[in-house]
Amino acid sequence: MNTKTAILASQNKNKIREIEAILGKHGFSVISRDDAGIPTDDIEETGTTFEENSYIKASAIRDMIEADPALEKYLDSPIIADDSGLMVDALDGAPGIYSARYAGEGCTYDDNNVKLLAALEGVPESKRGACFVTVITMIWPDGSRLVARGECKGKITEETRGDRGFGFDPVFIPDGYDKTFAEMGPDVKNRISHRAKALEELERLLG
Ligand code: IMP
Repeated sequence: MNTKTAILASQNKNKIREIEAILGKHGFSVISRDDAGIPTDDIEETGTTFEENSYIKASAIRDMIEADPALEKYLDSPIIADDSGLMVDALDGAPGIYSARYAGEGCTYDDNNVKLLAALEGVPESKRGACFVTVITMIWPDGSRLVARGECKGKITEETRGDRGFGFDPVFIPDGYDKTFAEMGPDVKNRISHRAKALEELERLLG
């Protein structure tokens, strides 16, 4: 377990930037799936939990590396995959693992926010609680794995606010703050977010 280069199963540039900012501080050099030349085929997320889906993504990347002699140099690299989503109390935890496609196949972040605000129309502030969740699974070349979960609790606004984030950032105010993730920008968000907490947990598990 002495390699310090990790491959990220994600192709989402926003998340790669966030994870790089945090893992980089802990001495890992990170290479994205794209930059490693790993095929961009869609990986079907057939799990029913964030834990299952992050494992499915990481092990699919592992299989692709093992199947392609051109990727041999990555056989010793750990693979990291994350799966995230927003769980809204008043919607019994939806959209959860279906967050990316909440408003339908091919929808935009705006579509999702419009749908979410409509679903919560008339719901009072005291019942607008929500929680961002990230699970990071790290698979080592020997097949062992680490699973780290991070959560960030907060509430859903009544209208979108801010333009500095992505996804549900414009409608989510973390507990203890009065700005949305999209208003506060990456410095604060990267310290308190679900992904930051999952990475802290991963670091703790790494020892
Ligand atoms: P993924 O599994 O990390 O790709 O996340 C699935 C979906 O959850 C994304 O498409 C976003 O809609 C939402 N999401 C995950 N993390 C965040 C975040 O930090 N801010 C806003 N939305 C997020």
